Amino acid sequence: MGEQATHQRIALVTGANKGIGRAAAEQLAERGMTVLIGARDPRRGAEAAAALRAAGGDAHAVTLDVTDQVTVREAARRIGAGFGHLDVLINNAGITGSGQVSPEDAYDQVPGSVDLDMVRRVFETNVFGVIAVTNAMLPLLRRSPAPRIVNVSSHAASLSLTSDPDGPFRALLPSAAYTPSKSALSALTVQYANELRKDGILVNAAAPGYVDTDSNNHTGHLTPAQGAAVVVRLATLGADGPTAGFFSEDGPVPW
Ligand code: NAP
Repeated sequence: MGEQATHQRIALVTGANKGIGRAAAEQLAERGMTVLIGARDPRRGAEAAAALRAAGGDAHAVTLDVTDQVTVREAARRIGAGFGHLDVLINNAGITGSGQVSPEDAYDQVPGSVDLDMVRRVFETNVFGVIAVTNAMLPLLRRSPAPRIVNVSSHAASLSLTSDPDGPFRALLPSAAYTPSKSALSALTVQYANELRKDGILVNAAAPGYVDTDSNNHTGHLTPAQGAAVVVRLATLGADGPTAGFFSEDGPVPW
């Protein structure tokens, strides 16, 4: 029997206790992967993992606050000890910085009057947290025959789309926090992809669309399952799949 036949595929999703991350975890479990539910609150993580197991999936909670190096290191240690490798990393955990607000309420992110501490908090989670988790998990990903990294970004990250005054995002309010944090995530995606291409590690960014979750006070029109579809597709790419790309369910998104 070859290694592929016995290889237990392991996926870690950060911020998987709710929203898009949770839906991605559900879909990966349906595909037979062992899913590690990254959650900063152990109780919420355990509840999500238990619900997934009740639905027939193989899921385990992993305490992981992407802004807390102690939990990041401990999560990597536990995954290494328990499974020895990681096949998929989905960097999904993210905050808007404005609390649970609809886009119209995001005025507190306007560049000319933004609170710099809020910008720092958003970058700490949405950008620096991705570097922290990715680097902690890279040794485990390198032990996978087909490692995949997916960074959950947003259409708002697109400089091409958001700089067009007549474009589809002309109604998006100017933001110095969430939107630039996702553009930085795009840049990071390309840089990691360039570093890891030679090792067969595919790294892509996903734009889930406008999804009904707590992060936008449930104003989104897509279900979390619909938003997670592109994330899962990029997490399960074949060896000939793209890297350094940015995709929505409708296809490539301009940078
Ligand atoms: P959500 O329901 O608010 O879920 C966000 C998740 O991230 C929660 O599990 C949250 O944990 C977790 N999280 C936040 N800070 C964290 C930290 N420091 N460490 C670990 N986990 C942390 O929001 P969502 O809409 O599903 O968002 C998921 C991703 O999709 C985000 O990156 C977001 O920017 C992106 N996105 C969403 C939309 C949309 O329309 N919803 C559109 C484009 C992109 P707690 O439960 O503990 O808070």
